[in-house]
Amino acid sequence: MSSGVKQESVKVVAIDGPAGAGKSTVAAHLARRFGLLNLETGAMYRALALKVSRDGVNPDDASAVTAVTAGTKILLEPTDAGNRVLLDGEDVTALLRAQEVTAVASRVSVHADVRRWMVAEQRALALSAGQGVVMEGRDIGTEVFPDAIVKIFLDASAEMRGERRFEQNPVISLDETVREMKERDARDRSRAESPLRPAGDAIVVDTTGMNLDEVMTRVDDLVRVAFSR
Ligand code: C5P
Repeated sequence: MSSGVKQESVKVVAIDGPAGAGKSTVAAHLARRFGLLNLETGAMYRALALKVSRDGVNPDDASAVTAVTAGTKILLEPTDAGNRVLLDGEDVTALLRAQEVTAVASRVSVHADVRRWMVAEQRALALSAGQGVVMEGRDIGTEVFPDAIVKIFLDASAEMRGERRFEQNPVISLDETVREMKERDARDRSRAESPLRPAGDAIVVDTTGMNLDEVMTRVDDLVRVAFSR
């Protein structure tokens, strides 16, 4: 599928993969290294989830959630410490990692019309950046920017991803973290609309047996080669 978007104006590095694969760390590193704007699309699904919860809307009701998107404005403002997220002008950054928000984000993201809205917002954000971007999510290489100059699909075993997630955010036990993460992954991979999968031309990097330095060296090389083409 073509994005229908003229991309000559912006170079996009697409980072996709399941939860806990290290996408945020890699994206932040690449942003610093290559002077790119770092846009975390998961934060937009989380912000929508927060609004859906606040409005008392059922996250599984596609038309009700789609109705919430109308009149909603979600902006990402990259900072050195990650993205600042503005939901209808309110800074909600600190609220988005709550477990309830994580669970609702996974549920609202299955709806086709919600995804169409998100994809359009995400393209507009990137194209208004006026500089190269590194965008991370689940469907960047397949849907948001199918013409990205390089697509990296980060993966790792579920156990490794669960351990990393637990270290970052030990709000529930390790077992629960792994179980909850597998549940979200299964939903992402099995949804009808733009399921999580590597694009045909993505480079899959399995970080299971790799340390951070090795991962960074590998992705640096991939991006450097892409930029020099
Ligand atoms: O990446 P993060 O964990 O913040 O994303 C939250 C949720 O948003 C994911 O579990 C996934 O269901 C959804 N998501 C998505 N497409 C994206 C980014 C996130 O469906 N591009």
